[in-house]
Amino acid sequence: MCMKKVLIVDDSEMIISLVKLEIKKHTDIDAYYAQTYQEANKLIRHNQGEFKAALLDVGLPDAPNGEIVKLANASKIPAVILAATLNKKLKDSLNNKDLVDIIFKDDPGSVKFAINSLQRALRNYDTTILIVDDSRLYRQTLTNSLSRIHLNVMEAENGKEALELIKQNPQISLVITDYEMPKMDGIALTYELRQLYQKDELAIIAMSALDKEDVVSGFLRVGANDFINKPFTHSEVVTRINANLDLIDLFQTLKDLANKDFLTGMFNRRYFFDSGVAIFKKNQRKVSPVAVGMIDIDKFKNINDTYGHDVGDDAIKEIKKILDKNLRDSDLVSRFGGEEFCILLEGITLDNLQKLFEKIRAAFELNSIKTNDVEISYTISTGICFGLMDTLDDMIKLSDEALYEAKITGRNKVIIKEV
Ligand code: GH3
Ligand code: MG
Ligand code: MG
Ligand code: MG
Repeated sequence: MCMKKVLIVDDSEMIISLVKLEIKKHTDIDAYYAQTYQEANKLIRHNQGEFKAALLDVGLPDAPNGEIVKLANASKIPAVILAATLNKKLKDSLNNKDLVDIIFKDDPGSVKFAINSLQRALRNYDTTILIVDDSRLYRQTLTNSLSRIHLNVMEAENGKEALELIKQNPQISLVITDYEMPKMDGIALTYELRQLYQKDELAIIAMSALDKEDVVSGFLRVGANDFINKPFTHSEVVTRINANLDLIDLFQTLKDLANKDFLTGMFNRRYFFDSGVAIFKKNQRKVSPVAVGMIDIDKFKNINDTYGHDVGDDAIKEIKKILDKNLRDSDLVSRFGGEEFCILLEGITLDNLQKLFEKIRAAFELNSIKTNDVEISYTISTGICFGLMDTLDDMIKLSDEALYEAKITGRNKVIIKEV
């Protein structure tokens, strides 16, 4: 993921240094700092359209009344406010702006909270939510609110339409739904959605009018995560949505911790077997050949011994880049251990398989990476088993034998065994 630019504006040296520390320690944010309105203005002009979020102090020496928020709004930068105090007038004037969150400085965890909110604002760019309501006015109001904090918003006017949309758009991570709607109401929609997606995959927030409390319990019984009373303010709905999106992201992080390799972010051996066996069996039923490939870096020990372990680690990370460039999303790629990678491909012919892995081999041969002031290059050897055997394990074993053959016959080559 590329680094995202954010703007931090605060006149307090202390807050700035706390924020700097937190950002450096826990994020990959590319932060720009200003201590006055004028400095911030300059930064925004010099980085036109590049700030993806901002952390703003509303009481600046040259702009004591939240003017900085208007400036960020005008530049379409979603803002997290970190404020000492807010009088009612200022608070009311902020309520309708493009705010992600308001955090008070007297709270001991305030800087940490503020950075969390900033990260939420950044993740919003890649987050899609679905609004379901038969009232066009409510849909529009919500869409306006949520688009301004850069969430991607889709709309449906009843449960049936929502169900169709979500099947076609699996990237949707949150649904906010009304109750009374023609064709399919909100509770029926929630029920149907819960047959397809668990609470940790898709968040559902119900909207209901204040006088319909039994509706709330109906929603919760069929699996809604949360509810919000109608009518609501911008900041109420944004806070509720952000909190639920954070939970979904936390669940995803936990899944990634279990299934992914820390160094490269590639799937690990365990996930390869979990997911690979299902893919393998599906192709066995179709009697459709698959390819299992084992890739190993040549003379990798030399890289570690000559340049150190960090450079070795970078060489391992480079594998992911080149494989991502050459393989399809549906191909299962994993780091099996050390400098060994295992791949499972379906729906490919022997001819295309040969061409593909020859291309990958050549890509490594021609590649070089610059890291820690050294330029290194290395080659890989690949063993592949193509066809169908009794089990995935059998195919892995044979690809391992092909890899061994590639190693002892000179390295930097691809050997394919057809079964
Ligand atoms: P060959 O061409 O026969 O594969 O030679 P090689 O040197 O690549 O083979 P070998 O399996 O002997 O060495 C692999 C080395 O990879 C040994 C180990 O220290 C190193 N290694 C394993 N995991 C990591 C890692 O995560 N980071 C780094 N930097 N090195 C690793
Ligand atoms: Mg309605
Ligand atoms: Mg090796
Ligand atoms: Mg090895």
